[in-house]
Amino acid sequence: MNNRALFFKHVAQTSPAPLALEIVKAKGCKMWDKEGMEYIDLIAGISVANVGHSNKKVIKAIRKQSEQYLHLLVYGEFIESPEVKYAHLLASNLPEQLNSVYFTNSGAEAVEGAMKLAKRYTNRTEIIAFHQSYHGSTQGALSIMGDEYWRNAYRPLLPDVRHEEYGTQAAIDVISAKTACVVLEAVQAERGVYAPTVAWMQALRRKCDEVGALLIFDEIQTGFGRTGSLWAFERYGMVPDVLMLGKALGGGMPMGAFIARREVMNVITENPVLGHITTFGGHPLCCAAGAAAFEYLLEKELVAQVASKAALFKELLKHPKIKAIRNEGLLMAVEFESFDVNKPIIDAAISKGVVTDWFLFAPHCMRIAPPLIISEKEIKKACAVILECCDLVG
Ligand code: PLP
Repeated sequence: MNNRALFFKHVAQTSPAPLALEIVKAKGCKMWDKEGMEYIDLIAGISVANVGHSNKKVIKAIRKQSEQYLHLLVYGEFIESPEVKYAHLLASNLPEQLNSVYFTNSGAEAVEGAMKLAKRYTNRTEIIAFHQSYHGSTQGALSIMGDEYWRNAYRPLLPDVRHEEYGTQAAIDVISAKTACVVLEAVQAERGVYAPTVAWMQALRRKCDEVGALLIFDEIQTGFGRTGSLWAFERYGMVPDVLMLGKALGGGMPMGAFIARREVMNVITENPVLGHITTFGGHPLCCAAGAAAFEYLLEKELVAQVASKAALFKELLKHPKIKAIRNEGLLMAVEFESFDVNKPIIDAAISKGVVTDWFLFAPHCMRIAPPLIISEKEIKKACAVILECCDLVG
């Protein structure tokens, strides 16, 4: 049996129609399948490969660490230099109140940890989240996901969760002295890239301060330069109480983190001790890879290039079928009339060597969120293919 047959036979399927490309090599912005066909990657593993696939610096760090040690002991017991180095690097590039880093194995696990932290720190249970938000697929993260279609099949979920409309005064008004935390994406990605106003975010910050609720930012998709600043919260002129990271955090290795000030983080240390534990969180290979990726991002000043690369996409992607392009840096939603228009264009683009997809809550929008290292030449080539597919289809 070939890999394709074995994939459908033995690998659990999350949808009836996976992309099912058999990629054998990936480098920079490109991927190659087993027939040797070359693809430009416009989605970066969903905002993971910000520094490109198989980045040399990342591979070198993984190799070096793999010769020293792999897993030693559960999280938080031994002093492991890759973990210490990465926590220090992150803290050095964050406002000083975000100084205590808890590394997890995934984004959803960071969300779980952050919500536990808020409940313990505030001694409250109410969690306010937003319609059309995505925070992961574990039961806690699913409880705050902003869509009843996905939540409903898995009820009962966490109690005391309220969903509000992103960017509205009503959402701020419901935050009260019963609220443990407000959890939100810095930019709602899966809704098709929507950012609230600076004024709204600042009002949200003030209200959380007034009532003593923790403001928890999900930057799992927006972190590490994706939206044109290192962290998306910078654009709002405020700092969250808890920052959740994932995806690009590991430079291609599986990793998440929730970051808070030491005083908040301390609630998981005692009464009970071991308030949040993980065997593999902060794995030495992941930390070594993630730190190398972050250093590369900073050294190459990739964040400063995001705006001009996004502008080039927007300038080139002009077609009667394209209704709008919403973007926050290189997190871009190209809007078509419907999924029925978008999907065949996406399929045609893939067949011509450009990998893209759609958004969970915005199936009529094409996702463009490439590695931040994408070159002008690659952008021009990818856009030419997308425009050709717009002409070809329907
Ligand atoms: N939060 C956001 C905004 C995400 O986009 C994702 C994943 O797509 C998650 C959380 C969950 O991360 P993970 O898939 O690593 O659990």
